[in-house]
Amino acid sequence: MRTSQPQTIYLKDYSVPAFLVDHVDLRFELYEDGTRVHSSLSIRRNPQLADNHGALELDGDSLKLETVALNGTNLSTGQYQELGETLLVPDVPDDFELTVVTWIEPQNNTRLEGLYKSSGMFCTQCEAEGFRCITYFPDRPDVMARFRTRIEADRTAYPILLSNGNDVERGDLADGRHFVTWEDPFPKPCYLFALVAGDLVEKRDTFTTLSGREIDLRMYVEPRNSEKCDYAMDSLKRSMRWDEDVYGREYDLDIFMIVAVDDFNMGAMENKGLNIFNSSCVLASQETATDLAFQRIEAIVAHEYFHNWSGNRVTCRDWFQLSLKEGFTVFRDSQFSSDMGSPTVKRIENVTLLRTAQFAEDGGPMAHPVRPASYMEISNFYTLTIYEKGAEVVRMIHTLLGPDLFRKGSDLYFERHDGQAVTTDDFVRAMEDASGRDLSQFRLWYEQAGTPVLTVSDHYDEQAATYRLTIEQSIPDTPGQQDKKPQHIPFALGLLDSNGKDMPLVLAGGSDDSLTERVLELTEASHTFEFTGVTQRPVPSLLRQFSAPVRVAYPWTREQMLFLMKHDTDGFNRWDAGQRLAVDVIQGLVSAPDAGEIEPRLVSAYRHLLSDASLDQALVAKMMQLPSEAYLIELADSPDVPAIHQARERVLAQLAGALREDLLSCIERHADNGIYGLTPEEVAGRSLRNTALAWLLHIGDEEGRDRAVQQFREADNMTDRLGALRALVNSGFVQEREKALESFYQQFSADPQVVEQWFSVQASSPETGSLEQIQQLMTHEAFDWKNPNKVRSVIGAFAGQNLAAFHAADGSGYRFLAEQVSRLDDSNPQIAARLVTPLTRWRKFAAVHSEQMLSALERIRDKKGLSRDVYEVVHKSLAG
Ligand SMILES: [Zn+2]
Repeated sequence: MRTSQPQTIYLKDYSVPAFLVDHVDLRFELYEDGTRVHSSLSIRRNPQLADNHGALELDGDSLKLETVALNGTNLSTGQYQELGETLLVPDVPDDFELTVVTWIEPQNNTRLEGLYKSSGMFCTQCEAEGFRCITYFPDRPDVMARFRTRIEADRTAYPILLSNGNDVERGDLADGRHFVTWEDPFPKPCYLFALVAGDLVEKRDTFTTLSGREIDLRMYVEPRNSEKCDYAMDSLKRSMRWDEDVYGREYDLDIFMIVAVDDFNMGAMENKGLNIFNSSCVLASQETATDLAFQRIEAIVAHEYFHNWSGNRVTCRDWFQLSLKEGFTVFRDSQFSSDMGSPTVKRIENVTLLRTAQFAEDGGPMAHPVRPASYMEISNFYTLTIYEKGAEVVRMIHTLLGPDLFRKGSDLYFERHDGQAVTTDDFVRAMEDASGRDLSQFRLWYEQAGTPVLTVSDHYDEQAATYRLTIEQSIPDTPGQQDKKPQHIPFALGLLDSNGKDMPLVLAGGSDDSLTERVLELTEASHTFEFTGVTQRPVPSLLRQFSAPVRVAYPWTREQMLFLMKHDTDGFNRWDAGQRLAVDVIQGLVSAPDAGEIEPRLVSAYRHLLSDASLDQALVAKMMQLPSEAYLIELADSPDVPAIHQARERVLAQLAGALREDLLSCIERHADNGIYGLTPEEVAGRSLRNTALAWLLHIGDEEGRDRAVQQFREADNMTDRLGALRALVNSGFVQEREKALESFYQQFSADPQVVEQWFSVQASSPETGSLEQIQQLMTHEAFDWKNPNKVRSVIGAFAGQNLAAFHAADGSGYRFLAEQVSRLDDSNPQIAARLVTPLTRWRKFAAVHSEQMLSALERIRDKKGLSRDVYEVVHKSLAG
């Protein structure tokens, strides 16, 4: 265990590694009571450093050191030192071979970092700093070496032995053991190392690359999951083709492998040639996975595959540059998902996540730039800011350059830096060099934290036929950063006439190219743009496609919102106008809870959505989702959570009551035709039908109940079965709910991924997720403290989605979370640190909440032997 006081690490202190490792020769002896790791490193002093005569320092964590040998001679204990998490060898030549033998205990590794056991198999997770839990090594991404890995294990228990690269040798050993040796020809940082050993079935396929090479594709899963691999395999092939078509990137090894494991801290890991996935992010069948799960699997398979270039071939110099690989790769997987499905729907999903969760992070105590300047524990920085905002930053470069110059830039980046460990600045420079554009001010997006606010005002001059738009930019203070400079922001807009047609946008003094959509570039604190030849007062459609991750403040009237909701030619902004209107109506109820009927025009707008079959149903399905409680809380100052919950429930009830007939005919129109497909239209049909069911059950409609019960019984796919279950769980029909929950569990109890959904439906529901019920779920036979997915699906779902219960006025939800975090901190600090998040924003809430959130945080802080992970999050949220 880590015992040292957590230290802060700063980007400004970066220096190149003193020693380089050219080659790593690993031998793993896997046993039930532990693993012996033999590591031989070819090391030399880094010639880049002048006056380089210091001691060799290697990182290690929770290792039992057996021997150290220099050029084949064992060192005596006085010739090396183990100091905390460092192995120090003071006297080494310029060029040498160091052999280290360590003993580790994967079977007792509950942190799930390094080498550990999951459901009887051995597997690894080395990003960011897990390799040091396997052996002593310079564990930093700018040390790139060639790895050769020999794995030895019992042949019967572990017939499959995998590592990175190509298998070059295999054979039998004494005592029923066997070995396989893998060789990876590409130098890589140790965080991309992987090892898997287990009794797994293999699924095979092939892919022919653009240059005609045939790649062997393999998936390894437990035998019970062998029918759930097809979708991931197809997704992989689509990703490989897409990366060739869109980025010109070809796969480089002869084999590409995917392994599914049940116990995994993250979603998936892009280890070179051997991607390891959380089972929930790769296994799917129509009967067990929802549409959402299918889409997530396609996106994650693509994401990890795309890392082979954006992350592995070109990697990060240090962990401050994490967004170099993550922001770019999330952008790439979003582009891919857009191309595979509906671009507007994909954009809506990305922005929903960004505005609900990333904006909250950017406004809270853990706010940090896309390229952080410091950290205590890097695993706390696998954040929405690094991933999602990082992707938005790359997307803005794409918007500013256009697709052709962006592609030129990415080609240059890959060509210039292939085989190197580089920085976000190198990425931006490649974009500049290829396009001739100056992105120096744009770089502030990487340096300044916080979500910019654009305050927009306008003036129409009928006589002069001019329309003036003034946009002021400000960026709120964040921890450690005040008085920020204006950023370079692409702002896409259009102007609509009274018929909903886009008007030509002629900028005063600009060329008359009669574009109807423009991207204005904001670089100053304030800009005024004047459009000429504007023959009538326009309705502005601002920040189309959400062209920048900013908040826009503009005094929209409800007439304008309704107009845009119906007419905007930009699908994203149509959806956004509907969201804004719903938010406005709900917020109105929060401040005047005794008001009677809700805005009647909201009802007719939703009726229009439900009844006009000519509308894009994928967009309609999204527009029918009311803004979430989490988003409403994020938008509010000092949110009163129970009041927000009640206001939203009332709006939902009034809408459902007024639209009952329309909802029933929506269910008819989108009835299951017995053929399951995943086109945007088919997914939208199921989504609309399930939304309609949920709304009807929300008002206790008996016809709705009967339809839900029938759908639950007869569904041939998980989307419909779970949709019906969720509607029943969230209704007042107690008998039907209990029966459905019971039968669902009976049917799927052998499938961990489905059981996780069963947990999560209950834990996130106000009807079944009271604190007492949550505690009951945690005693259920299927709950497992050691499995991160189970922890997330019960405790995470309660604190993150069941907001009225979590924010109960007596503080019981906060105390409960504090207890669970403290308990989990001993076994899995990474997951514990993630669970704390809902408490960290205590300052945002009204005193009735914030005082109790604060005392819950203080209870965690006072725990003895707190991990570095939780220490950092708790101390940062208490500071200031
Ligand atoms: Zn990634």
